[in-house]
Amino acid sequence: MPNFCAAPNCTRKSTQSDLAFFRFPRDPARCQKWVENCRRADLEDKTPDQLNKHYRLCAKHFETSMICRTSPYRTVLRDNAIPTIFDLTSHLNNPHSRHRKRIKELSEDEIRTLKQKKSK
Ligand SMILES: [Zn+2]
Repeated sequence: MPNFCAAPNCTRKSTQSDLAFFRFPRDPARCQKWVENCRRADLEDKTPDQLNKHYRLCAKHFETSMICRTSPYRTVLRDNAIPTIFDLTSHLNNPHSRHRKRIKELSEDEIRTLKQKKSK
C-alpha cells in the first residue's frame, strides 16, 4: 500500500515520487507538535502509537537542516525534527474548494428539482 502524506493540501504518495516519507514520532510530546503543525483536528485524538503506525509526512514539510541524508538511499530526520513547512493558506484559492462549491451549487439545484418532482 502506498504511503500518503498526512499534511493538508499535500497529495504526495510514496509511489509517485522518490521523496522521503517520515512516520510520526512515537514520543508523545514531539508527536503532539507534529499534529499541531499539521492543523489536522482529526489527528488530535489519535494516540502517538496509531499516528506512528498509520501516518506519515513527506520531506517537503521539513527544513532541509532537519533532514540528514545518511546515504543516497536512506534519509532520516534529526531526533528533534518538527515539520514547519505547510501550505495552510492555499485553500483560499485552491481548485479543490472551488470544486466543492460547484458541487454544493449543483446539489442545491438537484434538491430544487427533486422538490419540483415531488410536488407534481
Ligand atoms: Zn507532504
